[in-house]
Amino acid sequence: MRHILVCFICGFYFVSTLTAQVPKTTSPSDIYHSIQKLNFLGTALYIAAHPDDENTRLISYLSNSLHARTGYLSLTRGDGGQNLIGPELRELLGVLRTQELLAARRVDGGEQMFSRANDFGYSKTPKETLKIWDKELILSDVVSAIRKFKPDIIINRFDHRTPGTTHGHHTASAMLSVEAFDLANDPNAYSDQLGRTDLWQPRRLFFNTSWWFYGSQEKFKKADKSKLLNVDIGTYYPMLGMSNNEIAAIASSQHLCQGFGRLRTRGSEQEYLELLKGDLPQEKSDPFEGINTTWSRIEGGDEIGKILNKVEAEFNFKDPSVHLSDLVRAYALLQKVTDTHWKRIKSEELKSIIEAVAGLHLEAFTNQPFSNASETIEFNIEALNRSNKEIVLESVLINGQPKITEPKTLKNNVSIKNKISIEIPSTTKYTSPYWLMETGTLGTYTVKDPNLIGKSETPRAFKVTFDLMYDGIKIPITKNVVYKYAKPDKGEIYQPFEIVPEATSHLKDKVIIFADDSPKLIPITIKAHKNKVSGSIRLNVGDKWKIDSNIQQFNIEKKGDEQTFYFNLTPPGSEDESKISSILTINGKKITKDLVTIAYDHVPTQTILMPAETKVVRLNIRKSGQNIGYIMGAGDEVPTSLEQIGYTVHSIDPSEISLNSLQKYDAVVLGIRAYNVVNELSFKQKYILEYVKEGGTVIVQYNTAGRWADQFDNIAPYELKVSRDRVTDENSEVKIIAKDNDLVNYPNKITNKDFEGWVQERGLYFPDKWSKEFTPILEMKDEGEPATKGSLLIAPYGKGNYIYTGLSFFRELPAGVPGAYKLFSNMLSVGKNKLENKEKVKG
Ligand SMILES: [Zn+2]
Repeated sequence: MRHILVCFICGFYFVSTLTAQVPKTTSPSDIYHSIQKLNFLGTALYIAAHPDDENTRLISYLSNSLHARTGYLSLTRGDGGQNLIGPELRELLGVLRTQELLAARRVDGGEQMFSRANDFGYSKTPKETLKIWDKELILSDVVSAIRKFKPDIIINRFDHRTPGTTHGHHTASAMLSVEAFDLANDPNAYSDQLGRTDLWQPRRLFFNTSWWFYGSQEKFKKADKSKLLNVDIGTYYPMLGMSNNEIAAIASSQHLCQGFGRLRTRGSEQEYLELLKGDLPQEKSDPFEGINTTWSRIEGGDEIGKILNKVEAEFNFKDPSVHLSDLVRAYALLQKVTDTHWKRIKSEELKSIIEAVAGLHLEAFTNQPFSNASETIEFNIEALNRSNKEIVLESVLINGQPKITEPKTLKNNVSIKNKISIEIPSTTKYTSPYWLMETGTLGTYTVKDPNLIGKSETPRAFKVTFDLMYDGIKIPITKNVVYKYAKPDKGEIYQPFEIVPEATSHLKDKVIIFADDSPKLIPITIKAHKNKVSGSIRLNVGDKWKIDSNIQQFNIEKKGDEQTFYFNLTPPGSEDESKISSILTINGKKITKDLVTIAYDHVPTQTILMPAETKVVRLNIRKSGQNIGYIMGAGDEVPTSLEQIGYTVHSIDPSEISLNSLQKYDAVVLGIRAYNVVNELSFKQKYILEYVKEGGTVIVQYNTAGRWADQFDNIAPYELKVSRDRVTDENSEVKIIAKDNDLVNYPNKITNKDFEGWVQERGLYFPDKWSKEFTPILEMKDEGEPATKGSLLIAPYGKGNYIYTGLSFFRELPAGVPGAYKLFSNMLSVGKNKLENKEKVKG
């Protein structure tokens, strides 16, 4: 929760700063807004399934217009989606999306929390979702979130009564919320949590509905609205010069890896809340009606409220520091109240405001991004008071241990700077994302420490506390130690200070395919994270795999330097799948981790420790043709996968597409969603089809339905209609219905066994209509649904072949699924069969 508290007052910084890595400033408007929030003691919790599900218009309205403490519980971190801005997928995508959610909350003023549920990919029903998630486990997390956050009102993004109409994760999130609403106050439910949390009964549960959920605007107009609240979220904030909807658009535009950059809107806009549980407010525009949201809510609160309401009423925009004494007096009174929940929250808010009105700059930073256990590192401590108030820095503590004990008066605008050397204790834990430290299941993360469950990030290893004294009252202000530096082309940058192992090792490919039994040299790069690090490296391989000279010694002088070692790996004679992992031994300590960095401008740089391992697959694969042209769409790793089995893959720049330029390839492949995202294809499509006509093979991977440029009557040479049909069960039965077609015979014989071991799904956006020229090859279905034949279609055109496939090769190939490689190789080889036979006859 630390970042939330630290960021409490930074909800409004977006006006001047849109990147996450620059220091924050506070204007009197920001401070005033924070005081308004300080004087509102009400809490709202928004619940949905994924990063981007949240309605930022409503979150911003609750947080900034009503001034409520507002949380978003996203059950998952969005691991299962795709990434429009970089290579991160799966767990790493979840880390990036976690940070995008935090960036969105910094803008809209909300707080962010999670459950242990993993976004395992598209799910058609909540029944399937709850089975894979382990319903009891995730329900316990929702109950725990409610018990900790103590919301007065809960708002579901999705309808719990309409399974099958949206992603199963969505409906499941609403169903769990409805159940948890009653369980949170039940002492017999999840009683193991009660040491860490208290029972709590929220007052009201709403569903954030809209006309969309009713099917049409007309149907919504006619619907019974007796249980509907109607809030206008278009509030204009004159002190910010911004409308609530503008803030909301900036917040949701933080979801850049999902392509959510969007236009800002302004003016009156309605949001509807349907009451599901609890009492119906008389005033149909106030979800908090009848709930005491003033300081009198807590015992001993009246007197605090009297002081703070006066500060709000008489706020001095020219010199906010005049309120310091009152704020400190309120803080002292707050320390005496017995309600620990509000005491904790309001103390942190008050301290942020005290810091802001006094123009305090309190900071602890390092000159290096990371360090490791037992290393000595220097912390730079800086304290500056930019008001004319007499504030004394009594002491400075690092993780609770006093380090500076001689009191110093913080004179107006005179900086106090200190350097403190710290030996990092050998027991210090790595700062990597806590939910990735253990191996999870398909549906859930494994988190050993129950105190971490629900947190958005791993708590930082080092905190510095500045004990301030003003008017005889001690005010401890705690900051995370950060790494700061200047980048010549960007300016000052802040990023988290990390604790990492002494060295880590990296295997470049996540999957290595052996197309035959020849050995391959496997490069492993060791990176030192301290000076003078030495030890040994060895490779752990499966029984059937052989390795020459398995143990090698390494010795790296300088922190940050790398050394690459090669291991000669021989696969078994027959098909096999295994894992290889790299193990470093340094002073008897084994390190099995790889260090991955995620760096973008809109989120703080992330350092993640992942297992240093790679899947190895021995295939018996045959292929025809060698040179493949690839037109990249939204981004996928298919080209690298094809190179692994020996193809030469050239990336084709869309501007260079012509019949002539395509004809040098044995086949041309279009990457996923190419027609959705590459506008230029609308001018180049004719050359692609001409290439087929003249004897080429074109393979088009999935595009989403109806989203390409108007110029396309059709993306195929014949009628082909892409639908939303998908088969999400990766284990669903597949029938080969065109048994004699080359696609399942040449050069690799495809059998049912080739559809074993697929990951996440079979495929998506299958066509549901096609002209008679197309031959459907496969038939498949999800449980309880009609079968679809649109997953793999081939049509001859002129002298060549056109193939359209919604099968998820972009997932299966990088995951090293043998059957997917064989089928893809057959697609690339299509037509080469006859060619070879002709040559044989000639010869
Ligand atoms: Zn979603």
